[in-house]
Amino acid sequence: MRPRLDNKHTKIVATIGPASREPDVLRDMIRAGMNVARINFSHGDRETHGRVIEHIRRISAEEDSVVAILCDIQGPKIRLGMFEPEPMVLDIGDTITLTSDDVVGSNGVVSLPHPEFVRDIRAGTILLLDDGNLQFRVKEADGRNLVCNVVVGGALKPRKGVSAPNARLTLSAITEKDREDIRFALAQDCDYIAMSFVRSANDIRELKTLMAELGKDAAIIAKIEMGEALENIEEIIEICDGIMVARGDLGIETPAEEVPYHQKRIIKLCNAAAKPVITATQMLESMTDNPRPTRAEASDVYNAILDGTDAIMLSAESASGNYPVRSVEVMSEIATIAERNLHNFSTLATDAMEGIRASQSREDSSIAISRATFDISQAIEPKAIVTTSMSGYTTRRVAKERPRTPILCMTPMATTQRRMALVWGVTPLLVEEFTTIDEMISIIIRAAHDKGLVRRGDRLVIIAGVPFGIDGRTNLIKIHIVGEEGEI
Ligand code: ATP
Ligand code: MG
Ligand code: MG
Repeated sequence: MRPRLDNKHTKIVATIGPASREPDVLRDMIRAGMNVARINFSHGDRETHGRVIEHIRRISAEEDSVVAILCDIQGPKIRLGMFEPEPMVLDIGDTITLTSDDVVGSNGVVSLPHPEFVRDIRAGTILLLDDGNLQFRVKEADGRNLVCNVVVGGALKPRKGVSAPNARLTLSAITEKDREDIRFALAQDCDYIAMSFVRSANDIRELKTLMAELGKDAAIIAKIEMGEALENIEEIIEICDGIMVARGDLGIETPAEEVPYHQKRIIKLCNAAAKPVITATQMLESMTDNPRPTRAEASDVYNAILDGTDAIMLSAESASGNYPVRSVEVMSEIATIAERNLHNFSTLATDAMEGIRASQSREDSSIAISRATFDISQAIEPKAIVTTSMSGYTTRRVAKERPRTPILCMTPMATTQRRMALVWGVTPLLVEEFTTIDEMISIIIRAAHDKGLVRRGDRLVIIAGVPFGIDGRTNLIKIHIVGEEGEI
């Protein structure tokens, strides 16, 4: 989406796959409101991913739109190997063998190319396949082969996920494949790395150490999809740059019926910490095949926005579905309607205020300033709130208040500009660096004016930290009338 002040506030993350990796589709998705492109390293190959990243960088520049690249790293996810013919239709009571031997399965044998996983599984373990659609009970386990009884049957396809929620597993958080994928993603200058199956802050520390070794940096999104992560959620939010409520695997690792509770709680905690949060998986699932969402799906997207999510995500709908562009359009439409009613139904503003009161420390003037910015913008309804930021910290603090007024983030850092594509309500613009307040006013007003965002006479609320270049020191609020200082 081009920078405009009437764009939707909620951000859209869309997974790119075979249905959407061609330039024309990507362009239409950007126009329809995609803010972040997610590349899932569980599927496809690096060469194809690299090409997608190139396309997105080029097309978003042509479209004058900021699109962040999020590389989603598989993590220790267990998937079936290949077998023929597919799908394999299984009935309750059938016997099937999962083997870690290097074979293409057939006739009741399916390859499970994860020796370390198979070794950890004991007889009696329940296995959930394909996001829990099928269920096996392990009858015999010899360290290489798992002979299973089908408890819940269905059509099984290759490469589907396998999980054992109650088994004691010894897998490490970053696999060999992950290491290579992370190296590749960083070499492509990706903006966000999403880490799967995070259990604790230590897993994130491991990723940070690896990035430091590689001498490259990306923001880190922790995917919350394990019971253990729910127990450690506060420390995980504190150490990472954003969170994904990964409802697919979360609904397997914990009862699916509990997922809405976890979603709401995680979103609240992220809002309080001013960290962006993505709600993911099956948001418009039926649009994989149909041009219209179900009523329940429309409600799901709408309610996630009222919960306070920064971003809503498309998975198979945009990666492999029949309507990738339409799915983005539908999300945009629902978001626009939800935002109109955000303040009627939502308790966000009051929650935010309570959060502030509880956590306000005297040193952090930027918290008080963001709160005041919210109050001022409610009172005078300016055209925009203009934040200036190096890391995006100040901007995130303002966004967390969920003002009705659009938020501009003026930053000299291209990395910050792209990272802000994920943050609710923020339109990021790249500007030159400034050293004095006068220079700041003239640079940011001209930048907004050049993009057609403001006109002479418009009222803006500008916040900044002086001296410039140090973050978290926001100490200046100015109510500014465009043109009053001769800056345009
Ligand atoms: P995760 O647990 O990481 O979300 P997933 O298998 O659920 O993994 P999604 O990214 O949610 O994958 O996408 C949903 C479906 O879209 C996948 O199961 C796959 O069939 C398809 N898909 C996604 N990305 C690709 C790709 N790059 N190539 C082929 N198919 C893809
Ligand atoms: Mg997953
Ligand atoms: Mg998924």
